[in-house]
Amino acid sequence: MPVPVLFVVDEDESSLRLLERELDDRYGRSYRVVSAQSPELALTELRALAEVGEEVALVIAAQWMRAMAGSELLEKVRGIYPQAQRALLIEWMAWGDGRTGGALFQAMARRQIEYFLVRPASSPDELFHQAVSTFLFEWGHARRISPQTVQVVGESWSGRAYELREVLGRCAVPHAFCLANSPQGQELVANSGADGALPLVVFPDGTALADPSNIELAAATGATVDPQLREFDLIIIGAGPAGLSAAVYGASEGLRTLVVDEGGIGGQATSSSLIRNYLGFPRGVSGRRLAEQAYEQAWLLGAKFAFMHSATSLRRDGDRLHLALTDGGEVSAPAVILAAGAAYRRLEVPELEALVGAGVYYGGPASEAPAMVDREVYVVGGANSAGQAALHLAEYARNVTLVVRADSLEAGMSHYLVQQVDGTTNIEVRLGTEVVGGRGGDALQELMLRPRDGGEAETVAAEALFLMIGARPKTEWLPPELARDAGGFLRTGGDLREDGAWPLEREPLSLETSIPGVFAAGDIRHGSMNRVAAAVGEGSVAVRLVHELLAADRLPPRQPV
Ligand SMILES: Cc1cc2nc3c(=O)[nH]c(=O)nc-3n(C[C@H](O)[C@H](O)[C@H](O)COP(=O)(O)OP(=O)(O)OC[C@H]3O[C@@H](n4cnc5c(N)ncnc54)[C@H](O)[C@@H]3O)c2cc1C
Repeated sequence: MPVPVLFVVDEDESSLRLLERELDDRYGRSYRVVSAQSPELALTELRALAEVGEEVALVIAAQWMRAMAGSELLEKVRGIYPQAQRALLIEWMAWGDGRTGGALFQAMARRQIEYFLVRPASSPDELFHQAVSTFLFEWGHARRISPQTVQVVGESWSGRAYELREVLGRCAVPHAFCLANSPQGQELVANSGADGALPLVVFPDGTALADPSNIELAAATGATVDPQLREFDLIIIGAGPAGLSAAVYGASEGLRTLVVDEGGIGGQATSSSLIRNYLGFPRGVSGRRLAEQAYEQAWLLGAKFAFMHSATSLRRDGDRLHLALTDGGEVSAPAVILAAGAAYRRLEVPELEALVGAGVYYGGPASEAPAMVDREVYVVGGANSAGQAALHLAEYARNVTLVVRADSLEAGMSHYLVQQVDGTTNIEVRLGTEVVGGRGGDALQELMLRPRDGGEAETVAAEALFLMIGARPKTEWLPPELARDAGGFLRTGGDLREDGAWPLEREPLSLETSIPGVFAAGDIRHGSMNRVAAAVGEGSVAVRLVHELLAADRLPPRQPV
């Protein structure tokens, strides 16, 4: 079996040899190191490798070469190897020099590279290898070749097999899908020892679940509620960024904390392929990765998790708040943090709803993007999330069309994203346009687009559609006493005084809702910033306020809820 290639390009021969040696010594058993001493030779060699079907995991190019800048070369590499990681090689501290710093900034902003790599100093240079390992990890993750991948086998891409993929995604479990009649599918079914019922879920240790329920799947991944343990100090509804942050702070500060989520971890953030504005992650971090780390952290600090359980009602009984869950049980605590976020609006085109999972996807393309190589892809939406999705998909797809209702991209998207979208050659933007219909057999084939000014509808060929058309808060299940704004978002703190919705003499705490002891954090809250960092901040603040309330031997509510 040929092993994947690590490709190095540098005009300076001694530097090239040093890099080759450094890579070969460390990775020689699992990768083959190939080098080229000029950008032209590199492109010729890479095309030749692609022609014979060799895999390239990482291309490292020095920035300052005579024939072509490294960033320009790496942009071209995307056309030959869309999934290869691309590293721009620079000298230590060169980002401080205006010319290199500027080139690096541009290359990152225009997505010509994944990140930079500092030239190794002396062997072994562990900083260099830490960076190389991160590139290789990202490559393996995107290609779903991690040995920890759970395999889902189904009869079609849509239906229950798609729902199971969603559940695994929401429990942050790496997974891949194959059709039951494919050679891999047949082999997995034959080796599973299961009775043949589909869809089949096969874990890396060989355990197989035939047509499992969501709760069975969550239990297999290790997160269900312990029926013996129903009383807590703090219950958090939602395991998105706000809920996970509250869990870390609640558990670390000694509160018996339960986090309930109707899916798994990460909330909306799991659909973000690359969050670049979260503090401390200069190369960006996928929402899923961030959620996995936060979950692990909260779990190790002692928080309990119940996945695949929805909270269906909230009531007060004395000084405790009771929440009913979909497993039929109740859990209670003196304080509750509502961090249930928001859910995507639906397109409400029945022909397209029938194709959800089979070419039509709600939310970001984080897990589907690698499968989009050479496809004709559409993204609907005009906000940052849609811009990010289009950029991520453009790395794989032949063409991405961004369909926007508004007449300008600037109306809903940050300036830096508008620039990136404009600068990406395989993204087309259709302003003032709506998706009004579509068609497909086993998978999406066509979309019908109509200009909003009443012009004629047009049918276009499409192999995938990603819908990023805004969200509404998940507050329908909450009691009417909880004050909301016109959009259903929960009012908190000072807003409640203005509304006259606050029932006590004391002032409401800043994130407290109109039910004393019930707090709201993150996107569910009126006035939230709709950012991961803001949700994380609010989650931690809410825990601080819970402490304040518990310590102050709070006043009872005027009326029981
Ligand atoms: C595609 C996309 C890209 C984005 N990119 C960025 C970015 O680059 N940078 C940035 O800062 N922000 C980004 N955002 C916004 C960011 O993800 C959100 O602001 C953030 O996730 C809000 O966190 P949250 O915890 O408040 O809510 P959510 O993330 O919505 O999480 C809420 C959780 O509550 C659960 N839940 C809901 N109702 C119930 C119930 N009744 N019972 C149990 N559980 C329930 C849900 O399953 C969910 O897991 C992006 C959003 C999207 C959709």
